[in-house]
Amino acid sequence: MAGLKLVCLHCAQTNRVPEEKLRSGAKCGTCGVALISGKAVEIDAATFAKAARTDEVPLLVDFWAPWCGPCRMMAPEFSKAAGQLKGLVRLAKVNTQDHQQVSQKQGIRGIPTMIGYVKGREKGRQAGAMQAAQIEAFAAQTFRR
Ligand SMILES: [Zn+2]
Repeated sequence: MAGLKLVCLHCAQTNRVPEEKLRSGAKCGTCGVALISGKAVEIDAATFAKAARTDEVPLLVDFWAPWCGPCRMMAPEFSKAAGQLKGLVRLAKVNTQDHQQVSQKQGIRGIPTMIGYVKGREKGRQAGAMQAAQIEAFAAQTFRR
């Protein structure tokens, strides 16, 4: 089958999306939610694991927690970057307070930390709060082909 594998960040179903549809509103075949929303989507540990393992479109994840001041400062910047990177990179957030095992598995020592994944491989990581422009630059560098 043609198309890029993309896990729905809402229901965790794997979809296949033709490349030309990435920018034009592809929807999940199971739940009907937009696969490419241009928003930073909050996901749980199971959805994260599946998306990081499966996605053939770059996935950039912000690991954060509610008690972390710099994380909260970065949140609007990460959302802004999600809009700018729409169709190129999907941005998601994992709350490491609710999903502590994810931090352990990913070897995250401090938050916020961003990690980029494609096809089950970590392509790069960056710790510390960043501005939207810096997040976009990090994504461009991390996912350069
Ligand atoms: Zn879905």
